[in-house]
Amino acid sequence: MPTRTYRPIHVATLASGMDLVLPLHEIIGDKPGPTLGISAGIHGEEAVGVEIVYRFMQTHDPGALRGRLLVLPVANPFSYAAISRHTLIDGGNLNRVFPGNRDGQLTEQLAFAMTEQFLRTLDYYVDLHAGGAYPTVDYVYILNAEPLSRAFGSPLLYRAKEMLTGTSVTVTRERNVPSVVVELGGGDVEQTSYVARGLQGLANILKTLGMLPGDPTPPPPQVVLQEITTLRPHHGGLLVPEVTELGIEVKGGQVLGRIVSPYSFEELEVLRCPFDRGIMVLTHRTADAVEPGIYAYMVGNLATAER
Ligand SMILES: [Zn+2]
Repeated sequence: MPTRTYRPIHVATLASGMDLVLPLHEIIGDKPGPTLGISAGIHGEEAVGVEIVYRFMQTHDPGALRGRLLVLPVANPFSYAAISRHTLIDGGNLNRVFPGNRDGQLTEQLAFAMTEQFLRTLDYYVDLHAGGAYPTVDYVYILNAEPLSRAFGSPLLYRAKEMLTGTSVTVTRERNVPSVVVELGGGDVEQTSYVARGLQGLANILKTLGMLPGDPTPPPPQVVLQEITTLRPHHGGLLVPEVTELGIEVKGGQVLGRIVSPYSFEELEVLRCPFDRGIMVLTHRTADAVEPGIYAYMVGNLATAER
């Protein structure tokens, strides 16, 4: 019989007396095979990943599993509860402090526990991210496991030349663990289609690894970007979007959105496509209150993309 256990890992006791735990789930299949780790909610405001993992665990038949699944549905419970990218207690961004520090600030202690009890036990790793409370995003990183990244089935992929340091995949890549980072969904809009794609994407990865029976769904035509520019505004205010669709081509100088003052109604800033031929990677699908420096748009350069 396959075994399914919930074994929360104690990280720290808070001043309130409550315990901070990593909510770790384990499913061990009947047949031997690799250990795949899936995490979501490293950035707690990216809540669609949490939903994808929840539904995946509800619909998944552990009897069919070969190997072991280790699942962390909410990697940073504080940031999830606060609908924030950061841990409220110390302001830390969990995905910048890996491998963490046993004696560090709370976010570093959390990262340390996740590194020791989760990341360092894996043979394969998938980390789910999303656009957050307002922006919506759609791409998958190619890190050290291109077939797995492609198998997830997103139309846009990103072969980043330089990676951020201190992320959860910093730990797994150092150990040559094939790793996939998914950026999917988010924003103040209906998430049903992103949840469905997330469920299918995870199943495709398990099938590609031979952990589930059957063939993965063939991916759609995929574009691999080598260059993505993030547009961060210099003015806060009301972001009024003009291009709200993802994966569509945009022209050089085309207006993607405008920042206006909701007080004086003055136009403060115009955000434009920075490439001759761009493709939309992250956008705002609603008019949102924004601060300077936020993720307003991400645009890929089609001139340097691989088809
Ligand atoms: Zn994220």
